Amino acid sequence: MPEIKAYWQNYIGGTWTDGCAGRIVVDDPATGERLAEQALADAADVDRAIHAAKTCHETGVLTAMRPVERGRMVRAMGDYLLANIDIIAEVLCREAGKPLWEARLEIHGAARYFEYYGNQAETLEGRSIPLGEGYYDFTTYEPYGVSAHVIPWNYPLEIAGRSLAPALATGNACIVKTPELGPLSSSYLAEAAEHAGLPRGAVNILCGLGGEGGAALVGHRDVNQIVFTGSVPAGISIASAAARNVVPCVLELGGKSAAIVWPDADLDALVSSVRWGIFFNAGQICSAMSRLIVHEDVHDEVVERVADMARSISVGPGIDRRNYGPNMGAMISAAQRDRAEAMCREAERQGACAVVGGRKLNQPGYFLEPTIFDSVTPEMTLARDEIFGPVLSVLRFGRDEEALRIANGTDFGLVGGVFTADITRAMKTAARLRAGQVFVNEWFAGGVETPFGGYGKSGYGREKGREALWNYVQTKNIAIALQS
Ligand code: NAD
Repeated sequence: MPEIKAYWQNYIGGTWTDGCAGRIVVDDPATGERLAEQALADAADVDRAIHAAKTCHETGVLTAMRPVERGRMVRAMGDYLLANIDIIAEVLCREAGKPLWEARLEIHGAARYFEYYGNQAETLEGRSIPLGEGYYDFTTYEPYGVSAHVIPWNYPLEIAGRSLAPALATGNACIVKTPELGPLSSSYLAEAAEHAGLPRGAVNILCGLGGEGGAALVGHRDVNQIVFTGSVPAGISIASAAARNVVPCVLELGGKSAAIVWPDADLDALVSSVRWGIFFNAGQICSAMSRLIVHEDVHDEVVERVADMARSISVGPGIDRRNYGPNMGAMISAAQRDRAEAMCREAERQGACAVVGGRKLNQPGYFLEPTIFDSVTPEMTLARDEIFGPVLSVLRFGRDEEALRIANGTDFGLVGGVFTADITRAMKTAARLRAGQVFVNEWFAGGVETPFGGYGKSGYGREKGREALWNYVQTKNIAIALQS
């Protein structure tokens, strides 16, 4: 196994730098052992990064160039990630605990954002508004300036790419606050920016603790726009900081997303969707399929088939799981794994039944068995709270109204799913699901082109697709009185 560099620095104003808050140790979730150290930024480091971004913005270097040039640089960042995928995937796999093939998939996903938004850079066009004779009026779109991105640990590269690519494509200078868990691979984003020829200060990548470096970033008066992905409590704190400075904020928070299954559903397709929906990335996905609401006529068969699939998944170190298949890696930390396991114990006390799994593996590393709970009822904690682990809750329904009531019965509203051969039923249900995205007959259908974001406590604003471009620009209207 190749050595991972022992110490990783932050990248501020085009320079690799130590952190004034010292260093943190990054664990390998597959072994629980120390993997490397990461420089830790304090408020002064954050201030320097914001200053670098602000200076970059104020020189006008990003906005003066023709958008196609900016777009090419953004695309070049993605090309760099793909050209170095073997090295980056290894680091991501080791620091995040995910199978190597999943790490590679994440890098492809990140690169795709740079390709997609690089291509969009020259498509943002204003419009002219008729005001009658004597006037000429038009709108233009301008970047906010300094754009702050606070990134979680579950998909550090893909989620950073999701917001960094459109922010740069529209001409913003960016600061990315990487997660404390799994911050190492983000440094390749800085390398990619350098390789692409982006000016100094356009991309700053730093790691800091949420309550310190993170809070300093989102509360800074020179930040003009914020994008956050992570937990609800942190989201509330960040939205409050944004409100104090009167800057816009996009919040991508958690979920407790449900798929509804009718007896006419294609059960092979459903089982495949469950495999991806709850066991991909060991279930540490905001849009995970964490609840399966199954019609009583097909309930027993679905539970049996889904349980067989869960039993077939091998769990172990990601680095040994190089190819796509029925395998799963570790969870990110002992704390996340223990929290998920404790929720499983609580579910059993409340009367749910573990058909498969529910326990941590008796070996080093932060592993939890692929888990299916049956006999879950809507009021149980397991059915209401986000677990962020490989744990599926199966609930049963008789009437369509009941299925919708259960699906819409949590505080969240990120995504939802409908599995049926009846397109009328699918469309009627999709319209009534309280969620920002609905998958019909395939969980995670869609792509970087399709808008993504939450209802309710899942957040606000949309990432992905053309819609996300509007997060990063403000409209300016210019009205001209023509002189006679
Ligand atoms: P978190 O919200 O605590 O952290 C996410 C990011 O926000 C990290 O970079 C963290 O340093 C930063 N942060 C935290 N508090 C901050 C603050 N006050 N100001 C600025 N930045 C701050 O999430 P976590 O601890 O990494 O994970 C805990 C839970 O978050 C998970 O169990 C899950 O529910 C949720 N989560 C959701 C997503 C998602 O994609 N929606 C991703 C990861 C985690």
